[in-house]
Amino acid sequence: MTDDIILEISKQLGENRVSSDKKDLLSYTYDFWPISLHWILEKKFQTTPLAVVWPENTDEVEKLLKICYKNKTPIYPYGGGSGVLGGVTPEKRGVVVDLKKMRNINVFKDDMLVEADAGVNGYYIEDFLNNVGFTLGNIPQSLYPSTVGGWICTKATGQFSTRYGGIEQMISGVEVVVPPGRTINLKPHPRTATGPDLRFLFVGSEGILGVITRAWLKIWPYPEKKVKLAFVSDTLKDALFSVKKILQMGARPAVVRIYDKVETKRHFYMFDDVFGKIATVMIVEGVEKIVDADVDVIKDCFIGKSVSEDLVDHWLKTRFNVKEAAEFVPLGVVFDTIEVAVVWSKAEDFYVNVINSMKKVKGVLFASAHASHFYPQGICFYFTFAGLPPRNITHYDFYNKVWAATMDATIANGGTISHHHGVGRQRINWMESELDGGFDLLKKVKRIIDEDDIMNPGNMGV
Ligand SMILES: Cc1cc2nc3c(=O)[nH]c(=O)nc-3n(C[C@H](O)[C@H](O)[C@H](O)COP(=O)(O)OP(=O)(O)OC[C@H]3O[C@@H](n4cnc5c(N)ncnc54)[C@H](O)[C@@H]3O)c2cc1C
Repeated sequence: MTDDIILEISKQLGENRVSSDKKDLLSYTYDFWPISLHWILEKKFQTTPLAVVWPENTDEVEKLLKICYKNKTPIYPYGGGSGVLGGVTPEKRGVVVDLKKMRNINVFKDDMLVEADAGVNGYYIEDFLNNVGFTLGNIPQSLYPSTVGGWICTKATGQFSTRYGGIEQMISGVEVVVPPGRTINLKPHPRTATGPDLRFLFVGSEGILGVITRAWLKIWPYPEKKVKLAFVSDTLKDALFSVKKILQMGARPAVVRIYDKVETKRHFYMFDDVFGKIATVMIVEGVEKIVDADVDVIKDCFIGKSVSEDLVDHWLKTRFNVKEAAEFVPLGVVFDTIEVAVVWSKAEDFYVNVINSMKKVKGVLFASAHASHFYPQGICFYFTFAGLPPRNITHYDFYNKVWAATMDATIANGGTISHHHGVGRQRINWMESELDGGFDLLKKVKRIIDEDDIMNPGNMGV
């Protein structure tokens, strides 16, 4: 059967589009989920796929789904593999579909839209748009290793989200191939009122409903002016209150990042002004007149001292740097980040209670947070922890204990369990509490679209 399916794929798509070479299979068993990285370090692979396939267009994705559907073979869509929750893990033997050979881009300047294939690389699309005078404004820290399809399927959010929004606000149309191999083309319109919005059924679907092959995304003129601002405040409360007021008045800085005292020290230790304080960095960008008005509002509202924009330059220089994780792991330290969100009225208590809950887990060395995505309604906290498992506990169990402490405290304090990384295979246990009866409904929707459960089986717990 394994050989038959590979033969059929190579017959229909071409021999060079499919591989069952061991090196290729191993390369596609993991993403940036610390658990799967740990499996690799320990040389304990759960499963490997039976083949990796590289389609070049939507027709080929259709053909592939038809073959897999006929053979009841699981399919695991794969973008850049930068997901952090095990979303691409081929837990049952199946075919990994790497979309990276699908990378066409077309810009429609008049309509302020870009049409991009699912496999288009994050850095490439932004650079392409900048060169023709536009920006998409989606700059996740994983800009270099992620893809447009991955962004849509995980509901990604970038560093400039406070102005441009998350990927869901950028979507105008999507094309998706669903089992048993049928393409649905939900074309771009400025707005449409044709029933429940099916485009958004696939946003955040993490490969469980179909393969996204193309999208139409909203773009903006490349900013005419950029202003960098930095502040230090005595308390987190002051910084939170300031940003809430700024956004609720209608100003829209693109980047806003508030660091708690631990993270201020960790990220900005070289600046005297910030020691023992709360640092906030901002970038305001767009048309000059609007930027100037927003900057006035921000300066009027911020409770704290305005400090050198060198802080913003330092952040800009280091913003794609993830060396901490790489430095900690070889020392046996368990390290991860967890992003959640909550409304303003609960934000302060939420921060304190979640941090306390993480710190209560025996072995945790530190727990800290920054906030980097803001709305008039609330805030995303990005918690970081590091710890050494006590002697009788495995790294794996320790990791899961801290996760459980964070997720449980998030739910108990009125937050949502994920702001932008998604669910994958790590957040499944909390989906029932998060979605209430909605989780059952999601499972039913999955069965209707994918009755044989060939699309990324096991992912998201459906
Ligand atoms: C260092 C680092 C920093 C990060 N920073 C951010 C950040 O700032 N903001 C943020 O939002 N995320 C961030 N992430 C998480 C990750 O980069 C995002 O989730 C990203 O959107 C994943 O894109 P990808 O192309 O790598 O998807 P993958 O990891 O390949 O896949 C993710 C999920 O989507 C599914 N999928 C992928 N492509 C398709 C497709 N075409 N059709 C159907 N299903 C598909 C997969 O099956 C999987 O379930 C970061 C990750 C790392 C490692």
